[in-house]
Amino acid sequence: MKNFVSQRISCPHCGHHIHLDLDASMGDQDYIEECSACCNPIHLNMHIDHARNKLELHVDSGDEQIF
Ligand SMILES: [Zn+2]
Repeated sequence: MKNFVSQRISCPHCGHHIHLDLDASMGDQDYIEECSACCNPIHLNMHIDHARNKLELHVDSGDEQIF
């Protein structure tokens, strides 16, 4: 079964569009991706809604460093 979901997000810093391949089989994820255009950290919060079989992705600027 293929659980990869392609999502397109915009960088909260520069608006650059980034393609992400998310592995929905891993469950909820919270991580930092670096923008390929401006190199600023992008905070990604992925939530799997199992009830509706939907993937929610929240994007914000990763200003508060959690790592
Ligand atoms: Zn950017």
